[in-house]
Amino acid sequence: MNILLIGIQGCGKGTQAKLLEEKYGWKHITTGNLLRENIENKTELGMKAKKFMEAGELVPDKYVFQIVEDALLSANKGIILDGFPRNMEQLKFLEKNFMIDNVILLDLSDEKAIERVSSRRNCEVCKKDYNLLYNKPEIDSVCDDCGGKIVQRADDHEEAIKKRIEKFYQDTSEVIKYFSDQGKLIRVNADLEIETIQENIIKKLEL
Ligand code: AMP
Repeated sequence: MNILLIGIQGCGKGTQAKLLEEKYGWKHITTGNLLRENIENKTELGMKAKKFMEAGELVPDKYVFQIVEDALLSANKGIILDGFPRNMEQLKFLEKNFMIDNVILLDLSDEKAIERVSSRRNCEVCKKDYNLLYNKPEIDSVCDDCGGKIVQRADDHEEAIKKRIEKFYQDTSEVIKYFSDQGKLIRVNADLEIETIQENIIKKLEL
């Protein structure tokens, strides 16, 4: 099955996608992480994407298409797309290459999203995710698993978060409408416990 997770920053797309990947073996493809990997590895693409990401702007489509194309080529059992497509051009690109079966919209208010995103952190070394609101490390700033330093993403400051939310309403709402018109959109309340959201997704996908 090929599914798409869509929603405002902080709605828990990444968390839910990882759980689905573990359970069903579908490949989790997240453009944000792929771009961050390129920045860490100082690739040419990463260096071009960096300034857009830090400002909360979308990275130009031509760079995003390169990484999505590579990721889609290595998927055979099914995919969970997270963070792509974010606009109509990206949607057209996706549909030329892939068939999406279901789209899950994780519904969350702007206020909750800002609160969650500004509290999220991750380990610099093993990338484990934390949130200072409900999933703090045992020792301040130290990763429970590997002892690495816990840091905040460069684009998780309030100005960039607000910009990303604005972009979501500006560009991504057209993508949501498109799938809604096709009868492929499934709405799930994202203001619940992680396990409950996962159960609701599985129930609605009739898995
Ligand atoms: P995320 O991890 O999904 O919050 O994405 C972080 C940042 O990566 C975004 O604010 C954009 O700058 C960039 N990005 C991720 N996915 C895309 C995409 N599909 N199109 C353009 N830029 C993207």
